[in-house]
Amino acid sequence: MTSSLSSSSSLVVHVIGAGLAGSEAAWQVARAGVRVVLHEMRPTRMTEAHKTDGLAELVCSNSFRSDDAANNAVGLLHAEMRKLGSLIMQAADANQVPAGGALAVDRDGFSAAVSKALAEHPLIEIRREEIAGLPPQDWANVIVATGPLTSAPLAEAIRGLTDESALAFFDAIAPIVHRDSIDMSVAWFQSRYDKVGPGGTGADYLNCPMTREQYDAFVDALIEGEKVDFKDWEKDTPYFDGCLPIEVMAERGRETLRHGPMKPVGLTNPHNSTVKPYAIVQLRQDNKLGTLYNMVGFQTKLKHGAQLGVFRTIPGLENAEFARLGGLHRNTFLNSPKLLDQSLRLHAAPRLRFAGQMTGCEGYVESASVGLFAGLAAAADVLGTPLAPPPPTTALGSLLGHITGGHIETIDAGPRSFQPMNINFGLFPPLANPPTKGPDGKRLRGPEKSVARKQALSARALADIDGWIAAHLKLPKAA
Ligand SMILES: Cc1cc2nc3c(=O)[nH]c(=O)nc-3n(C[C@H](O)[C@H](O)[C@H](O)COP(=O)(O)OP(=O)(O)OC[C@H]3O[C@@H](n4cnc5c(N)ncnc54)[C@H](O)[C@@H]3O)c2cc1C
Repeated sequence: MTSSLSSSSSLVVHVIGAGLAGSEAAWQVARAGVRVVLHEMRPTRMTEAHKTDGLAELVCSNSFRSDDAANNAVGLLHAEMRKLGSLIMQAADANQVPAGGALAVDRDGFSAAVSKALAEHPLIEIRREEIAGLPPQDWANVIVATGPLTSAPLAEAIRGLTDESALAFFDAIAPIVHRDSIDMSVAWFQSRYDKVGPGGTGADYLNCPMTREQYDAFVDALIEGEKVDFKDWEKDTPYFDGCLPIEVMAERGRETLRHGPMKPVGLTNPHNSTVKPYAIVQLRQDNKLGTLYNMVGFQTKLKHGAQLGVFRTIPGLENAEFARLGGLHRNTFLNSPKLLDQSLRLHAAPRLRFAGQMTGCEGYVESASVGLFAGLAAAADVLGTPLAPPPPTTALGSLLGHITGGHIETIDAGPRSFQPMNINFGLFPPLANPPTKGPDGKRLRGPEKSVARKQALSARALADIDGWIAAHLKLPKAA
């Protein structure tokens, strides 16, 4: 870039943070013919995880996960992003390394390709500076994409604006299970003491009963299971809301869980009303569609393999399919369903639009995809043609829908129950006519049925994203 873009013009979009989301957002704004100033604090100020001054640096794994658009929700998101001319996908495809069915990249080549494309675009100016507070008032159109490690002064300023008690803390991520993989001949719906509560029915929780022997074995397995270590810089971050990992509670005493999240009171097992369960695991609806349920109080630092082994010993969850496993790491994200509108703008200050992990999505691809929509929407605002989000039947639309409204806020889950989410088929509205027979006319069962359902969801999504693009976007040909 030779000439400096006027920063205060209402025809300029300011993007703060050039990670996965900010880089994609800046690219989309510029592709739409609108000028961008991209502010990145590295290398002047580094984060605890980034190591380079490259844009779109991958801080940990080099994988964008499955690239299978027909059978996997993240693969489907890749496909939709490619159709939308994503820079992140172009750079990933050009820097692929062998990884079976996954899309893995040479991280330096990938970051260099993104940096080069942005630096060479005539409508993009890159400024290496920290935005250490709220952006100046005369920046009319701003995308904040500063990620899980947003610098403290900006995080603090945003917290002040949103009136939320916390913005940066440990995610207390509890596992999320696909509702249709829970064995309802063992589990049952009931709220403790049949309490109806705000918006409830008295039967809002799924309950899984345990005998004393099962509970004892479960506590032993939690204590013995392999855990993920804290990173050095995470050690001093307080737990959100005193939310302890389940295995830490188990270590405090054999009865702690039975008196905490697994207490067996106020519930009667309709499958066996004569025997009182010794402990009960509860799952609570997590999305409006009712396809996903989270395990209440089960935030954990057990390694993923250990979680699968231990949680599938819970009666009713023997065949559970997990939309997300539990975890605990430092993060910065908004209570988006409450604070953002459909177009990712802050209700309290609509000139600020958010993107990336700050909005409560999780993962490189998801962050970039939310950046992609933020970029399109910001450019559309400048051009005076506001843009509705993609249909909820698409991967991008379902993720945006979850962030801006699909999650259910539960009063008894603490001040905020919204937790970061990866893309998964549980976020999609169910099919009107799910496939029941294979191409050979035979009735589908078990795993075959699940594969056919995913493929039908993917086919619907790809058709619907094409329809949305044709109706709303005049995309230039991919660079
Ligand atoms: C330790 C760690 C490990 C992770 N591992 C994985 C993984 O293996 N796989 C995966 O899919 N996801 C992983 N994630 C999640 C990952 O961070 C996100 O998926 C993704 O990078 C988020 O994209 P983003 O654009 O929102 O944020 P980032 O990619 O982090 O980009 C934010 C950018 O904003 C800049 N910035 C921050 N504050 C300011 C400011 N005030 N002014 C200007 N610039 C600023 C930062 O320097 C950074 O470049 C990990 C996260 C962490 C913290």
